[in-house]
Amino acid sequence: MTPEDIKLVKAVLSTPKKIVITPHKNPDGDAIGSVLALWHYLKNSGHNAHVIVPNDFPRFLKWMPGVEQIINFEKNSELAREIIGETDLIFTLDFNDLSRIGGLQSVFEESEATFVMIDHHQQPFSYAKIMYSDPAMSSTSEMIYNFINFLGHKDHITAEMAECLYAGILTDTGSFKYNSTTSTTHRVIAELIDKGANNSLIHNKIYDTNSADRLHLLGRALNNLEILKEYATAYITLSSEDLEEFNFKKGDTEGFVNYALTLEGIRFAAIFIENSEEGMVKISLRSHGSFSVNNFARVHFNGGGHTNAAGGRSDLPLKKTVTKFRDLLEQYK
Ligand code: 5GP
Ligand code: MN
Repeated sequence: MTPEDIKLVKAVLSTPKKIVITPHKNPDGDAIGSVLALWHYLKNSGHNAHVIVPNDFPRFLKWMPGVEQIINFEKNSELAREIIGETDLIFTLDFNDLSRIGGLQSVFEESEATFVMIDHHQQPFSYAKIMYSDPAMSSTSEMIYNFINFLGHKDHITAEMAECLYAGILTDTGSFKYNSTTSTTHRVIAELIDKGANNSLIHNKIYDTNSADRLHLLGRALNNLEILKEYATAYITLSSEDLEEFNFKKGDTEGFVNYALTLEGIRFAAIFIENSEEGMVKISLRSHGSFSVNNFARVHFNGGGHTNAAGGRSDLPLKKTVTKFRDLLEQYK
C-alpha cells in the first residue's frame, strides 16, 4: 500500500462509517477469513460494518467467529440491497474483478460508495479508489494483517481476528506449502498464534470434519482420474450423477484437484465438475513451476487466478469440455 493510500484510508476511517465487506462468489477459507477479520476490526473501531457474501460457503468454514452475522445475497437480497444502498464504503476482498461476485455485480456497479480493494490476484481491474493489490502475497488474510498494521493498529488484533486470519492463510497456502509462503508469512502466523489462534484446533476444524459421503466422493474422483504422461498432465472429472450419488454439499470437492498434482512427473492438474443447476462445468487448475494456469484459464475457460492455482468455467457439456481441454494440451507441450 502506498503512503498516500494509507493516509487516505486513515482519514476516511477517522469518523464512523457505514461499511460493506464482500468476498468473491463461492467464498473459500481465505475469502471468509479475511472478510470476518476485517469486519471485527472495523466494528471494534466504531464503524457500522456488514459482511455480504454473493452466495453460500462450505460448512467447514462456519465455525469462524462472526459467521452468524454474514448476509447471503442469494438468500437475503432485499436486505443486502438496502444495506448497500446506504453504505459509504465497500471493501472488496480476495478478488479484483466485479464479474467475480455473481448477482452482486450490478448492485455494486450502481453504488456510489467508495471502493477499497484488498487482493492478491493478478491483473486487477480498476474499479476501486483505494487499491491494495499484491500478487506476491500468500493470501488476502495476510494482507488484512498488513492493512491493520499499516494503520498502526496491530495491537487491535483480537483472538477472534487471529483465528480468522490464521484460517485464511492456512487454506490459501495449502497448509504453508505453496511457493507464496514466505518467512514473513510464518512470522505473521507466529504472531497470530501469540494473539490467541489455536493452530492445532483450527487445522482440526477445517480438515478433520469430513462426512463419509465426501470421502466416498473423493474415492469416485480418484477412480475417474486420467493421466496423460506425455503432457505431464492429469485430470479428474465428476459428473452431476457422481455428485448426486454421494449427496454433494458445497465444499465437498475442495482440494480434490490437488491429488492429481501429487502424481510423480505431473506438472499440470485439472478437475472438471459438472454443475447441472447452472448448466456449466466448473474447472479448477493447478500447476507446478512456471506454467501459468492463470493464463490458461483466462484464455480458454473464462477464468483466472494465480500462476499455480486458477479456476474457470465452460458452457459446453462435460465430455466436450474435456475434449476441448485435451486438444489444447498439444500447444502447451
Ligand atoms: P479454485 O480452483 O480453488 O476454485 O480457485 C483457485 C484460484 O482461482 C482462486 O484464487 C480463485 O479465486 C481463482 N478462481 C477460481 N475460479 C475462478 C473464475 O471463474 N474466475 C477467476 N477470475 N478466478 C477464479
Ligand atoms: Mn485468496
